[in-house]
Amino acid sequence: MIPDADKDTWLSELRKRLLCWFQMNKRELPWRTKYSPYEIWISEIMLQQTQVKTVLPYYLRWMERFEDVRSVAAASDDELLRYWEGLGYYSRVGNLHKTAKILVDKFDGNFPREYSQILNLPGIGPYTAGAIMSLAFNENLPIIDGNIQRLFARLFNVSTPVKGTENQKFMWEKAAQLIPAGEARNFNQGLMELGALVCTPKNPICRECPLIEFCESFKFNVVNQRPVPSERKKIKQIEAAVGVLVEKGRIFIQKRPENGLMARLWEFPGGKLEAEERPEDALVREFLEELGLHVSCLDKITTIRHAYTDFRVTLHAFSCRLLKPCHKPLLRAASEARWVTREQLDEFAFPAANRRLIRILAERSQFFEND
Ligand code: SF4
Repeated sequence: MIPDADKDTWLSELRKRLLCWFQMNKRELPWRTKYSPYEIWISEIMLQQTQVKTVLPYYLRWMERFEDVRSVAAASDDELLRYWEGLGYYSRVGNLHKTAKILVDKFDGNFPREYSQILNLPGIGPYTAGAIMSLAFNENLPIIDGNIQRLFARLFNVSTPVKGTENQKFMWEKAAQLIPAGEARNFNQGLMELGALVCTPKNPICRECPLIEFCESFKFNVVNQRPVPSERKKIKQIEAAVGVLVEKGRIFIQKRPENGLMARLWEFPGGKLEAEERPEDALVREFLEELGLHVSCLDKITTIRHAYTDFRVTLHAFSCRLLKPCHKPLLRAASEARWVTREQLDEFAFPAANRRLIRILAERSQFFEND
């Protein structure tokens, strides 16, 4: 807590040290050159739950293809998803698209400068709105991301789970109180950068921290016990089968529904195994139930194990062939289906485990020649 007697000195010293540290230690990042609202918006959406080093190649590729809000608004959903493939949380893409269209229709392709108007845009919550306002427009608005949350939990020695409502309120209030007038851009980035580079999740480098003299958890020797985590969600294990159905050199793919997990991504048909069910039996059943197609499984192609954020999947992949001539599939669990060439698979966005399967298929050209 800020001691009452020396509040002003405490505050101005903390601000001075953080701003100075940021000036000396900030990383050169592509969204830290022009600070355009468009670049801040895209980078902040990509950085949600994702580290800078993962985001960098995605960001650069995105900016090369979509140079401004208008180019995002004009692109197809499939193309945006393809550029996002691998970053996860795909609902972000649909929201980016909707927001870009609103910005073009109502704001001439620019971001409004009102916090409430930015907050009204699809997929933009208090964090992203605060980031656009403070980093792009240098307005005194607070932000709390994962890095700042961890830093504050230690700096103010928060002894209960940081995600709790009261603690969140406390942190947003602190973030607002700390910003020096006219310095929001550097100050907010300084907090995030200090969390990312010094007050790291494991083994924070306290001896290099500019805020060590202000840090309550350092003072009480509880740094390693902060932040207090919330109860962990159990990671689900899923076992599924997918089928690569090839007919006359073309592969059958389907698009996942509009809503739900990995919405609008393309995939090979298949589904979860039921209790005691063999993967190949599950696959024949799923083809019939979801597409009305009679298939048989030919060969096992591979088994892929992949960890997503909330679950782990074991994917048994088989090559399949139609037992009866193909009629129009029923699409009970998909929004669209296509027969595509092997090369065309690169034009669609797939979940990570399916993409790994595509890479394996690419190494086996005979797979497509023998159908
Ligand atoms: Fe984090 Fe250590 Fe700095 Fe405290 S002194 S804010 S624990 S790096």
